[in-house]
Amino acid sequence: MIVVLKQNSDKEHVDRLMQHFMDMGLKINYSEGDNTTILGLMGDTTKLDERDIMAYDVVERVQRVTEPFKAVNRKFHPEDTILEVAGRKIGAGYFNVMAGPCSVESEEQIVMVAEAVKKAGASFLRGGAFKPRTSPYSFQGLEAEGLKLLLEAKRQTGLPIVTEIMSEKHIDLFADVDIIQLGARNMQNFMLLKELGRSNKPILLKRGLSATMEEFLMAAEYIFAGGNTNVILCERGIRTFENLIRNNLDISAVPLVKMFSHLPIIIDPSHAAGRRDMVQPLSRAAIAAGADGLIIEVHNDPKNALCDGAQSLDIPQFEATMADIRRRAEFEGREMMPQ
Ligand code: PEP
Ligand code: MN
Repeated sequence: MIVVLKQNSDKEHVDRLMQHFMDMGLKINYSEGDNTTILGLMGDTTKLDERDIMAYDVVERVQRVTEPFKAVNRKFHPEDTILEVAGRKIGAGYFNVMAGPCSVESEEQIVMVAEAVKKAGASFLRGGAFKPRTSPYSFQGLEAEGLKLLLEAKRQTGLPIVTEIMSEKHIDLFADVDIIQLGARNMQNFMLLKELGRSNKPILLKRGLSATMEEFLMAAEYIFAGGNTNVILCERGIRTFENLIRNNLDISAVPLVKMFSHLPIIIDPSHAAGRRDMVQPLSRAAIAAGADGLIIEVHNDPKNALCDGAQSLDIPQFEATMADIRRRAEFEGREMMPQ
């Protein structure tokens, strides 16, 4: 980190600032030019916040030269992370498709969709029991009962499950869930991130609606900081000025994550666009960009879905999309899970 000091700063104040950095265990490269004095900070600067340093009157500007995330940073872990969940490898070319309804609606529905997506080649069943809805009057999910139905679908089909948590108070209910999803709206729910950091469950961390890449990776860093290194990232579209689609898939998130982090990243083409006719083209883009998998909404009867029907594929559409995904993923050298 580079700290540029104001011209003609009082020496006593500069000394106090330097002492502050030294107390934090940092080394300082002091460089005094004709017009500017620069402090080059060396060591672990992850604990420093640029804005806190700006609070010192002698500081003109602060420039970070290394990323504030460390544990999830590829610099310190050059190899791709490969997670192993329920016998499926995730990351580094192992490709997973997680599929299922936006929300669990009944035993009949979730079991029927689970059987269909399994047959088509999905490696995980998705389904929301606790739903983050914009309106308090919309269907909120079957909650604990929904989790039971998901576990029943898992028992009947053998498909591992991924489902969203909305409060740290519910963590015990998720004991048998294979992957816990942390949804876009909770990407910066720091209490929840800390709680998930203390668990050893694989976490599917979705990018917030307007989160920068650094904020996204810092959310993953929270989970790592608590000791849980089982994190899968998910790009699910961000807010832009476009209103023909629900969100805008930020495909550059895939190569960026690969550049800066060792974690696997999957794409959610369903929430990214909010319309089913975009799911296949966006899935193709995800594969081409290097994503490690997809999470796709599938419903047995999208017209009557209690949540996100417009973006859900029906079962024949999923079968066709899945065949296309398989062909393209294999062409790109990915290994489809499960084997
Ligand atoms: C979901 O997966 O159904 C969901 C609510 O996703 P997101 O958090 O990305 O909106
Ligand atoms: Mn949904």
